[in-house]
Amino acid sequence: MIEIKRTIKYETDRVKGFGREVMSVPGCEQLEQCIQCGTCSGVCPLSIYMDHSPRQVMALTRSDFKREVLSSVTIWLCASCYACAAECPRHIRITDIMYELKQRAIQEGVYPRRFPIPVLAREFTRMAQHWGRITESLLVLRLLWRTNWLEAFGMWRLGLGLWRTGRFSLRHESIRQRADLTRMMASVDDVVIGALPPPAANHRRGAR
Ligand code: SF4
Ligand code: SF4
Repeated sequence: MIEIKRTIKYETDRVKGFGREVMSVPGCEQLEQCIQCGTCSGVCPLSIYMDHSPRQVMALTRSDFKREVLSSVTIWLCASCYACAAECPRHIRITDIMYELKQRAIQEGVYPRRFPIPVLAREFTRMAQHWGRITESLLVLRLLWRTNWLEAFGMWRLGLGLWRTGRFSLRHESIRQRADLTRMMASVDDVVIGALPPPAANHRRGAR
């Protein structure tokens, strides 16, 4: 069934203060200075797959269009290559803003339903917080269950091959001192989603 959506945005769609909130986070302050030049979209290797280009995400965030930004697939497709941040003439840390938006989308549960990347990030974080280690087999099962479990049928050969070669363990992993981990996690306000960025890519294309 085709879902028909309104594409025009109105003043009433804005969540006043959202942009200010994001810009108050250390590292995101420069967003205020965006001149909408589109360089970020032009250098982004993934912008052709995004529903809103990086430039649009910056504009929507600054203009308080919270729902549009947090439910966008763009923030999840961002590969953290930092190409946009390296080229931005206003030195805006676009990648860090994407991270901030991802965290907010998970906290508010408004990421695209059944989209694998946020589901994987959430399940990974939960497992790491609870057990201190990742049980890959359980993580994959949880991911498939919460996204598209039918895919499991098409992946059984791959799983078997990985298991046979010792790349995929069925053993439940856990650290010994889980109580220490719980205490440590309780002392941290926010858990940063994701890890260190991968090496920079620098593909140039026309601005979007
Ligand atoms: S490159 Fe920088 S200034 Fe230009 S649109 Fe992107 S964020 Fe804004
Ligand atoms: S960090 Fe890389 S993938 Fe993410 S928006 Fe910037 S250029 Fe695109």
